[in-house]
Amino acid sequence: IKPVHIIGAGMAGSEAAWQCVSRGIPVIIHEMRPVRMTDAHETDGFAELVCSNSFRSDDKVGNAVGVLHEEMRLSNSLILGMGDMTKLPAGGALAVDRDAFSQAVTTILRQHPLVSVEYGEVKGLPPKEWGNTIIATGPLTAPSLAQAILKETGEDSLAFFDAIAPIVYKDSIDFDIAWMQSRYDKKGPGGDGADYINCPLDKDQYHAFIDSLIASEKTEFKDFEKDTPYFESCLPIEVMAERGAETLRWGPMKPVGLTNPHNPTVKAHAIVQLRQDNALGTLYNMVGFQTKMKYGAQTDILRAIPGLEKAVFARLGGIHRNTFINSPVLLNRQLQLKSRKDIRFAGQIMGVEGYIESAALGLIAGRMAAAQAHGSEFDVPPITTALGALVEHVTGGFMSGPKAKFQPMNVNFGLFPPLEEEIVYPKIDGKRRRGKDKTRYRKSLLAKRALEDIRPWAK
Ligand code: FAD
Repeated sequence: IKPVHIIGAGMAGSEAAWQCVSRGIPVIIHEMRPVRMTDAHETDGFAELVCSNSFRSDDKVGNAVGVLHEEMRLSNSLILGMGDMTKLPAGGALAVDRDAFSQAVTTILRQHPLVSVEYGEVKGLPPKEWGNTIIATGPLTAPSLAQAILKETGEDSLAFFDAIAPIVYKDSIDFDIAWMQSRYDKKGPGGDGADYINCPLDKDQYHAFIDSLIASEKTEFKDFEKDTPYFESCLPIEVMAERGAETLRWGPMKPVGLTNPHNPTVKAHAIVQLRQDNALGTLYNMVGFQTKMKYGAQTDILRAIPGLEKAVFARLGGIHRNTFINSPVLLNRQLQLKSRKDIRFAGQIMGVEGYIESAALGLIAGRMAAAQAHGSEFDVPPITTALGALVEHVTGGFMSGPKAKFQPMNVNFGLFPPLEEEIVYPKIDGKRRRGKDKTRYRKSLLAKRALEDIRPWAK
């Protein structure tokens, strides 16, 4: 059997490779790191997490990404398997030790008898002799390949900005001011409800902080980048501050569900949270604090946060331009390029956002490529599932439609088709459900349907 060529061993490429070899199909992985690095990757490991170490909520009842996690577990996902194996305490989220996670994925694939790895940059479209190929080169696809893809597809460049949050050494945080607690004391599996470090700000400190963010020196964009939008779910803190003084208090700095044990009677006006970043528990990342402030400005301004006065940063934040293709126009339902069916795409370059969404599309593309190598076809996952909803999003289905302006997206319940039957909401303690309770119940039904419908496909 001819091997499947996979370009890029990130989240999507690693998962795609695993799905192929699990079906007896050999793969040749082409990875450019460490020969050529990207602007965000720092290691030569497969599936390196470039920013946060979180795969987000693991709630398979009330959260679409939690449903996606579960569907991937049922589908023998390498990324979820290794994520579960290297997970860290993070309340209801699935967060991992980034080094242990990447090492586990790298070792499993490199030691697999059906995997060979060729290190080096693929500089143009894959040659036709390769046949069955998956391009999974991600948001930071090397420019020569990105140019070749644009030329083949006849599209203008599509791009958006994504930012990285800083990481701090725990022993440089002042615990006479900061404290450990998860919001609403939420316990993850094996956790004690105290997974996050919290730093409180009073009203004056908060407003001084917002003013300094707005006045800070930021990375300037080049002319050709000026019309590039930000990814809305990952805005830099300075951009949020510019949208209004209260924006951050409703976002990453919201003060709810937390009580300061050093000062229990006084409610903090805003709170900065940090989440464990490695298994040793020595590093913590600043949750939602992605930033494009220049390095000098970052250290000065972030050290004004109470508890972080002496913070030592293991990594500072930064901003990067991400590339994606106009998938709804260019790809068919088998995720193949319409103009060259020997090429499939997988991962973030298709117009999804997030580690797990990218890996999910790698899982689907890998299964499809493996089936093709066996001379058959692998069905698209049912549209009622999180995996199916992502395929709908990138191939221009019932919600997005090829005419709509295509924009990258995280998985969300809005991508799922509505329930067919009318919902009868059970009462809580004899009272009718309202607002949030209704929404949660409706989501739980969508989640239940998804997890039932994915089983035959996952098998
Ligand atoms: P990647 O994981 O980037 O993998 C692509 C691989 O292809 C890389 O290993 C690269 O070296 C290789 N490659 C590229 N070009 C070539 C070539 N020509 N030849 C050979 N190899 C090549 N997601 C989150 O969920 N949370 C976050 O906090 C987050 N923050 C982000 C911050 C930034 C700055 C960026 C850029 C992205 C961020 N993302 C985040 C998105 C996240 O990086 C992606 O969702 C995910 O890593 C994409 O997976 P992928 O497999 O598509 O690409």
